[in-house]
This record gives sequence, C-alpha cells and structure tokens, in this order.
Amino acid sequence: MSSALIVRGVTVLDGKGGRSSSPRDVLIEEGRITAVRPRISPAEDVREIDGTRRFLLPGFIDAHVHLRLPGTPINPATSLHEPPTLRLYRATKNMRATLRAGVTYVRDLGGIDYGAKMAVDYGEILGPRIVPALQAIGPTGGHTDYRTLGGFAQDRDTPGLSISPLADGPTEAVLRTRELHRAGAGVIKVMGTGGVWSPRDSPEHDGFSPEELSAIVKEATNRGLPVASHAQGINGIKNSIRAGVTSIEHGYSIDDEAIELMRSGGVWLVPTLLTGMTPPTGADVPDYARAKKVRLQQSLRNNISRAIEAGVKIAMGTDSGVVPHGRNLLELAHLVECGMTPMQAIVAGTSHAAELLGIDETVGSVEVGKDADLVITDVDPEHDVKALSDPRRIKIVMQRGRVVHAN
Ligand SMILES: [Zn+2]
Repeated sequence: MSSALIVRGVTVLDGKGGRSSSPRDVLIEEGRITAVRPRISPAEDVREIDGTRRFLLPGFIDAHVHLRLPGTPINPATSLHEPPTLRLYRATKNMRATLRAGVTYVRDLGGIDYGAKMAVDYGEILGPRIVPALQAIGPTGGHTDYRTLGGFAQDRDTPGLSISPLADGPTEAVLRTRELHRAGAGVIKVMGTGGVWSPRDSPEHDGFSPEELSAIVKEATNRGLPVASHAQGINGIKNSIRAGVTSIEHGYSIDDEAIELMRSGGVWLVPTLLTGMTPPTGADVPDYARAKKVRLQQSLRNNISRAIEAGVKIAMGTDSGVVPHGRNLLELAHLVECGMTPMQAIVAGTSHAAELLGIDETVGSVEVGKDADLVITDVDPEHDVKALSDPRRIKIVMQRGRVVHAN
C-alpha cells in the first residue's frame, strides 16, 4: 500500500466532534492510522510531515455528486453528438478537482460508470473513492427525463442523453432496481419528485407513485441496498419517507410533519445547499429552470434550518456536477448559515456522511484502525469554515495513507 509516515504536531479534529486540546503526532502505517498521541518517537524509514499550526481532519465525504456531469447546464443538443466515453474522460478531471478540494469519498447519485469506481480502487486514476448509484431511476416525463427536448425523443434509451433509465409501474421499477444491483450499484437513486432542470415537471410534482417507491424500497432492501430519493416538493418528500427510503436528497420544501417523520424514523437529509442556494443566473440557464429555482429558494433556507434545529440526521452533499466541481466544502459554510456550528457541519461531512454511505467502519473519523483518508489544512475550521472551501488552503490530501495531493 504505502510506507509509514508521521504527521507531527498537528491539531486533530476527529470528525466525531472532538478536537485535540494540544498538538498530536499521527502515525500512518500500511494505509491505516495506527497511533494518535502527543509524541511518537522517530523511526528509520518513516517519512515525516510537519503539521505545526495545521489542522488534520478526516477526508471529507460528499454524499451527493454527479462526477460525470460538467458542473454547468447541460445542452442536450450538443451532448447528443458526444459519445458517452467523452464524458467519462472529462469526469476524470472532475474527480481530480474533487480530491483536491479535500473530498476523498463520494456517493455518486447518477452518471458515473462502475469502471470509474474500479479505476480509483485499483489506483489507475486519481479521484475520490465512489459509492455509485450508476443511474437514477425516474418515471417517464419526470426529473432527468430530457427526452422531451428537441423533438428527437421517442426512444426511451437514447444513449448518452440522460442519466436516468425510465420505469413506469411497480413491475418496471423493480426490474430497473434489479438491473442496477446487477451492474454494481451501491445505492438506488429514485425520483421522488420533479425538479428544476427537467423541462416538463416541477419540484412540486410527485415523481414515482407511493406504490412504485414501495416496490423499489422493498426490492433494494432485500438486496442490502439503501435508497436515496430526490425529493423537493413536500408531497413527494412524504411519499418517499413513508415508502422507507434511507435518505431525502434536497428536501427543500420540508415541513414540520416531514421533519417529525424523518426524526422518528431515522431518515437522513442531504440538503445540497450548494446547488440550492446558487442563484440561477447565466445565459445557459433555461427560463423554466430559473423560475422554478427562484420559487424554491424563497423558502429552502428557512425549511432546512428548521430540520437542522429539530435534530434530523444530516449528511453533507453538494450536487456537484449540477454546480461546478471542486468547491464541495462550501457546503459546510451553508450548513452553518442554516444553524449548525462549524463542528456539526464537519461531522455532517465526515463521520455522519460515512454512516449514511455505510462505510463508517473504515473511514469518516481520525481513529486508530481507520483508513488514513485525511486532509491537512492551514485553516482552523472552527474559526473560518468558509476558508476550507478554497482548495489552495487544503495543503495535503491522503487516501489510504498515500499523499494524493500536496499544495
Ligand atoms: Zn443530484
């Protein structure tokens, strides 16, 4: 894996809410954290990294990205003429940007290929490790069904155009779930409501019906897979919670009843504030998307703040790919704007995100035995959490004990 190294004299934020009262030495061997102590004796063949006046945190985990999406509005007329592999090559650039931002693990909720996950695991390319949904499942005419644009779109399987295979009715929904499981999905992503970027539907529209959602959750659960529901309008949020999904993605219109259902049921919220709060400006933003976004933005900050205050479980996710890649940690500042302390936001982006992704036994905190997925920064995140979102302030990124980025 990699040779041993010691980070000397660094302030440790452990990802579980703890902060070392004095500098620590952190020993990394065979890709794992093997000691965190005030002083570790030097040894031969152990490389040393000076951590003085620096801060060491777990590698961040972004629970909602689309590595294959460009980070700008998609032009279907152009992408129709692009082979799918082109986007995959471009995705490698997005993956490096994500890693440089301090994100060492992601959940990709639609678009990335299983081969990309393998390429990272095998060390063929640099990028965050990936829990892939592979593709999102949605109903005909729903969110991510872009086939309505341009009049070319009667083919349900137009290649390269969409990240979403269609399913209508419980039978097809179960079939798609099984196909994704067969292809290696680590999570099933469904459309609980419409959305901003889809031409014909709206966040207030239901996506899958309660029957379709229940069929998917039952099938996924049977195969050990969690279900993530894109849910923005309140009715679809409640349909998704009642069907038993693991996480609500976006959740912008969440109300008190949904908050209580989520709290009592232990359902995660991934508020994706980075995309939610980004103003819908720019020549490439279609008018229909602009209007829907403005409508959502009027209430989302208040709604998400109420969910945070009520104690709904939160994991950090950004929807990077819909917004530019590599600014992932700006989400932490947005979570703080919605009422979290910086430390709570860091926990949402490390150990809590790890828990949601089902990878908390190996990553998400600075503890002996965990993989050395680590970030070293010159920013005191409790003092200026927003500065963490500047990749230049991320000095070292480590994955399984290997330095994959150094500034
Ligand atoms: Zn998304």
